[in-house]
Amino acid sequence: MGGLLSGRSGWRRKCEHLHAVDIRKLKRWGLLRDGASSDIVWSVDGKATGRMGVRSRGPFVHFRYRWQMPNGGDWHPVQIAVATETTPCNFGGNRHWFTCRCNRRCAVLYLSRDRIACRDCLGLAYASQSDDAIGRVWRRIHRLQRRLGASDDQLGWSARTERPKGMQRRTYDRIDDQIIDGFCELEDLIEAGAARLMARIARYDARHR
Ligand SMILES: [Zn+2]
Repeated sequence: MGGLLSGRSGWRRKCEHLHAVDIRKLKRWGLLRDGASSDIVWSVDGKATGRMGVRSRGPFVHFRYRWQMPNGGDWHPVQIAVATETTPCNFGGNRHWFTCRCNRRCAVLYLSRDRIACRDCLGLAYASQSDDAIGRVWRRIHRLQRRLGASDDQLGWSARTERPKGMQRRTYDRIDDQIIDGFCELEDLIEAGAARLMARIARYDARHR
């Protein structure tokens, strides 16, 4: 079974720990049939980087996996059911979609710790964290995205990144690289913030035992 990684190639390449699940691949592998189940494995260069149990029940796909902080520690088990829906295709048949927590139809959802959600939902969750450093990196990313022609309502994880007409490829590549570096910086900051939060919770638990 091949890698499930998809989406922005550069960001994926550098931030491989965010795994994606693509409903089109689940369909191709027969995993959307009622009762079907299997383990799926993410891999990079032939090396497994993650594994998840998938089981279909009616219109729901149940996911089971464990996650761990990048710096180690306990494994946290997660079980999530995600609703699916179908829309008719122009040329016959049906297209399958996940229904994200934001109620949008998505072909691809991403895993981030105990969440499975669309990139926008995860981006919003990240953006709402009140860490100054995170805010600074976001502002830098937004400035770069505006240079690539994104309007205010297009900024964020899923901003369009095509090369604007008239911009030299070299310039575009440099800006796109800087945006990807920003995303990676964000991920590191978010992981570090989450680790601090977990440590605080552990201390709280120890005091209140
Ligand atoms: Zn969403």
